[in-house]
Amino acid sequence: MSRDPDCIFCKIVAGEAAAHKVYEDEHTLVFMDIFPVADGHTLLIPKAHSSDLFDADPTALAALMQTSHRVAAALRRVVEPEGMMVFQLNGAAAGQTVFHYHMHLLPRWAAQPLALHTRKPGDPERLRELASAIAGALD
Ligand code: AMP
Ligand code: ZN
Repeated sequence: MSRDPDCIFCKIVAGEAAAHKVYEDEHTLVFMDIFPVADGHTLLIPKAHSSDLFDADPTALAALMQTSHRVAAALRRVVEPEGMMVFQLNGAAAGQTVFHYHMHLLPRWAAQPLALHTRKPGDPERLRELASAIAGALD
């Protein structure tokens, strides 16, 4: 499996960096965003390294998309948001900050301002609780 030794998400895949993991299978790993823009902000990554959409393996992306459908439903059951944003950034000019392909699932409430990033880290206890609750709500 392709890997970039300097990539934080590859380190999470390898178990060399910590993450609040929700789910994993052969192709995909799901974990909580450590700087959540909203409660329940979740990331999905292919386990194999690719920097963005353009060098990602379409088979891995198809698997990730299938998983995202299940995870989004579980996340919605857990945090009961008013809406959910799905986004994926390619290149610094698009706002990408971690150069390992990832999809964001971002629960939305109309009263909260729309943002893609925050510098405020999530409460570790809440992230742990969410990861466990979303895992438990998967079909
Ligand atoms: P992007 O700006 O689309 O590249 O998103 C990168 C996301 O990864 C941001 O929302 C960060 O908060 C998140 N992030 C960065 N490092 C970690 C980490 N070690 N664990 C979990 N999420 C992370
Ligand atoms: Zn990587």
